[in-house]
Amino acid sequence: MKKLLLAAALPLLATSASLPAQNPAQVAQLRDAALTDQVAWDITEGLTTEVGARMAGTPAEARARAWAVAKLRALGFANVRVETFDMPVWVRGEERVELLAPFPQKLVVTALGNSGATPARGIEAQVIGFESIQALEAASDASVRGKIVFVSHNMSRTQDGSSYGDFGGARRQGPSIASRKGAAGIVIRSIGTDYHRNPHTGGQNWAQGVRPIPAGALSLPDAEQLQRILKRGLPVTMRLTLTPRNIGIRQSGNVIAEVPGTNPNAGVVVAACHLDSWDLATGAFDDAAGCGIVAAAAKRVGEAGRPLRTIRVIWFGAEEVGLFGGIAYRDRHRDEKHAVIAESDFGADRVWRFQSNVSTAAQPVVDRIAHALAPLGIVKGATDEASGSDISVLTAIGFPTLELSQDGTRYFDYHHTPDDTLDKVDPAQLQQNVAAWTAMLAIAANAPVEFGPVPTRAGQ
Ligand code: ZN
Ligand code: ZN
Repeated sequence: MKKLLLAAALPLLATSASLPAQNPAQVAQLRDAALTDQVAWDITEGLTTEVGARMAGTPAEARARAWAVAKLRALGFANVRVETFDMPVWVRGEERVELLAPFPQKLVVTALGNSGATPARGIEAQVIGFESIQALEAASDASVRGKIVFVSHNMSRTQDGSSYGDFGGARRQGPSIASRKGAAGIVIRSIGTDYHRNPHTGGQNWAQGVRPIPAGALSLPDAEQLQRILKRGLPVTMRLTLTPRNIGIRQSGNVIAEVPGTNPNAGVVVAACHLDSWDLATGAFDDAAGCGIVAAAAKRVGEAGRPLRTIRVIWFGAEEVGLFGGIAYRDRHRDEKHAVIAESDFGADRVWRFQSNVSTAAQPVVDRIAHALAPLGIVKGATDEASGSDISVLTAIGFPTLELSQDGTRYFDYHHTPDDTLDKVDPAQLQQNVAAWTAMLAIAANAPVEFGPVPTRAGQ
C-alpha cells in the first residue's frame, strides 16, 4: 500500500534500485505478480459505476475523459492529456415495433447507429423477410420497394470472434442495401449469440448517396418469432417507430498517458483501448475492461524500472460510432516513430492466443513474448496478422502490431446490449489479461531490435 502511495505521488519513474525487465526471469516475475492485480478491476468498476454509459460526443463521454485524466494521473502516469477532435453525433430516440397483422403483438427493437427516423407515430408497412444479406442483395427492387425489410443470419459462437466478421454484414451493409432497393425501413436479427430479449445495437454507415431509412435490430427471440410468423405465409404488417436525431458536430477526444522511456528515439509502444461505449449499458466488456487491462499492465512495467521505449496508453474516444478517435490520432501522429502498437477491445475473458505482424528481425522477440505467455495458457498464433479496433487505421498504414486475442465465446452475448455490465467481468480472467499484457509490454518496451518495417506480402 505504501508503495502504491509513493507511486501516485511521482510519475512512473524507476527508483535507483529497480531495473527494467530485461531478462526472462524478471519478466516471469512481473507476469506472475500481475495475477493478483487490482488496478484493472478498480478502473473497470470505477468507470462503469461513476460514469456509466458514455456515448461518443455526448456530455457522458466528456465526463469519462475527465474521470480518465484524474485516474491516470492518480496512478502515476506522466504526460496525461486529452487530444480533442470534432465529430458528428447521433442520439437515440423512441424505439418501438409492433406487428399489426396477422398476429398483433409487440416485439423488442433498438435502433442501429445512424438510423434514419420515422415520424413520431411510426411507419406502417408490409414486412418482407430474407434469410441472409445475400438473399436481400439478390431480391428485385420491386419486391422490396415500400416494405420493411427483415434480414436474418446464422451467427454462432466462436472463440476467435470471426463470426462477427462473417455475419455482421446484415448490420453493416443491410440498411444501405435495403434503402437502395427502396425499402421503407429495415430490422435485422441482432448480431449476437444470446437468447435474452436484448437487442444488440451497433455502428453502420450509409453508403455514398444512400438515403438514411429507419434501421433497427430485434433481439434473437423476437427475430425468431417474426420468422415463424413470416413462415405462415400470410401478409405481415409492422408498425416501426424509431426517432433518433443527428445533433450536429460535437467534441470527443483521446485520453493519453505515458510511462516515459529512456530513449526518445526508440519509438513509442502503444497500449490502447476505447473509452466510449454505446448508450444501452455501462460498457464493462466493451471496453472499460480493456482500458483497465492496458493501464494496469503499463503501470506495472513502469514501476519495475524505466523502460527503453515510452509506453503510451491511449484510451480512444468515439470508437463505436466510426473509429473517429483512431483516425484523429493517425492524422496527428502518423509521422511520429511508433515501435509497435496493440489494443485490448474484446471483453474481459482470458487471453488464449498471441498474434503479431512485425519485422523479420523482431521474430526472436516474438518468440520471447510467446514463451513468456505460454504459462498463462496462451498459444502462439499467426505471425503475419494482428489487429485491434481503433488501431486498425494505424495497422493499415504499416505500423507493426501485436495482438493478445481474448476468448470471444461469450462476448457476443453481451456486446452492445443493455447486459454489458460489470457483473459479467470475471476478476480472475481480467487478472490473466493484465499478466499477459504486462509480459508483452515489458518485453516490447525493452527489446533491442526494431519491430518495423512489416514485410509486404503478396496480395497486400
Ligand atoms: Zn469495442
Ligand atoms: Zn463495441
